[in-house]
Order: sequence, then structure tokens, then C-alpha cells
Amino acid sequence: MTDFTFDGPIFQARIDLDPVVPLYVYLVKGATYAAWIDSGIKSMFPLLQATMDRAGVVPQDLRFVLHTHSHHDHIGCNAQLRAATGCLIAAPAYYAAWHADFERQYQEFARPFRRLMPDTPELRDEVFSFLDAPVPLDLHVDEGVLFDLGGGVTLRAFSLPGHMLAELGWFESSTRTLILGDAITGLDWPQFHSHLTVGGYRASLDKIRRLVRELDVQRILAAHFAPMTPAEADALVAHAHDYIDSVERTIVRFVAGQSAPVSLGAIWAFTCRHMERRQEFRALNMVHAHALDLLARGLLREPEPDHYTLR
Ligand SMILES: [Zn+2]
Repeated sequence: MTDFTFDGPIFQARIDLDPVVPLYVYLVKGATYAAWIDSGIKSMFPLLQATMDRAGVVPQDLRFVLHTHSHHDHIGCNAQLRAATGCLIAAPAYYAAWHADFERQYQEFARPFRRLMPDTPELRDEVFSFLDAPVPLDLHVDEGVLFDLGGGVTLRAFSLPGHMLAELGWFESSTRTLILGDAITGLDWPQFHSHLTVGGYRASLDKIRRLVRELDVQRILAAHFAPMTPAEADALVAHAHDYIDSVERTIVRFVAGQSAPVSLGAIWAFTCRHMERRQEFRALNMVHAHALDLLARGLLREPEPDHYTLR
């Protein structure tokens, strides 16, 4: 990957969530104020403070946390940042409840299919251990909103659903940098990173490619990838399209090979086994999204709830 320096107006904080999944969080500093794009996980707070110190950002300079999306590994320091600086929290309205009510976030994120996903201490810990405390959103933001941080540093939001049903990318104009959360998902991890709308994900991948050209983007920053050149981002987008294709192919072939309707749980188990990923809740959410997509396109039928046959 290409080496970029981060000496302003964008500053990088990075940790490893596990041996294969890094997490990058970015601070953007203008002449008037500064903003974090997402806040990482709760244990990162000392690193966020050190990053603000390095950037010369004093508490009253930090006006906003501007979210890409509302997953637990992107909102985990909101309460600590709010307490330390008084900053406001901005995110798409769709998942506002996830910021105010962590139990609801847990149930909707990890257990939308309760029969298949028992409520266990381990599952709870996976979600809750990244979060500090609930902070209701101060601002609901969507595509087109522009924050002028001063001195030519601006952040404009672009809608990029797919990984979640609402997600934003942020374009910083002075450095022509596109800052993403998980709009391009992890593709080669031991677990499926997941997407919740297949058509939305494909459209957002194409939109990223288009934005890079139209906005003359010079670098692409994403939460779980090292900084990318436009050529590197282009290659990753192509890889993501191939990945979606291979998930779809796996599901269609499995259902086609069965003589009776197959359950969502069976498709989930087969897809994880066949593609060598951990069988966990993100994969289940993703497989369900593919089932909905294939139903909408007329390739599958659902003769009884959550059971599928080839058309
Ligand atoms: Zn995410």
C-alpha cells in the first residue's frame, strides 16, 4: 500500500481489532474547528486524546463527531469525547436509536433472527465491550450536508448504503481525500464483514468509483484498510464486486441442488462452510440480504417463511 503522511489537516489514529482487522479513525482539523470521522472503540480514547494533542486540537476546538455509520466499532468513544470536549454527535437518522439505546443496537445488530442466534454473554460482550455509554444524536445528517471547518478545509457527505442501510462517506476538499467507514467491506477476513442490501452495496461501490473520478480524489481512507491511491481503491472495488458475485453464486447453487425448500439457517451454514468463514451473526444478516435480493429479482421463491427454492 502507498505510504501517506498524516501531518494535517487529517490525522490518523490506528489500532488492530484482531490480527487481520485494523481500525483507522481520522481527525480533521480546520482553521476554525476540528471533527472526528467516527470515534472507534472505547479503549481507543487515550489514543484519540494523544492524536488531538499531536494535532494541536484543544477540547473546545473539537466541535463534532461526524459518523460514517453506527456500528459499535465506530461509535465507541462518543461519551468520552462528549464529556472531554462538549462535541456534538452527527450521523444518519436511520440508526439514531442505536446511539441512544445499546440494548436495541445489540438486538437489531446481532439478533434480528432470534431463533438462530441465542442471547449469550459472549455475544453480548462482542457488541457491548466496544461501547462506552449511550449518547443520543445531536444532528441527523445525510448526503449533501457540508461542514466548513475553516481555512479551506470542508467535509461533504455522500450516501453509501450497503454495509448498513444508511452510511456516509466524507469528502475533504483541501486534500481531495475521500474518508469512508465500511462502505467497502472487509473481503478476506475469517468472518463475513456483512452487507444488508445487495443492490445498495453494488450501487455504492460504483458510486465510489464515480466520485473518485468526478471529485479528482487523491487518496481514499477507509476504516479497515490502509490508505489507498485511486488505483488501489479501484482494484478493491472490483474485488468487492467479485466477492458479492461469489456469495450469490454459492447461495444459488446450494438452493438449486436441494429437492425441498431450504431454510435460511441451512443456507447460512452452507455459505459459511463453503466460503470458509466463521458462522456468526454478520454472516446470517448478509445471507438474508442475499435471499431478499434474489427474491426481488425473481430468482428465488419463498414458499414458506424463511424457506427458499429456486424459481
Ligand atoms: Zn461497520
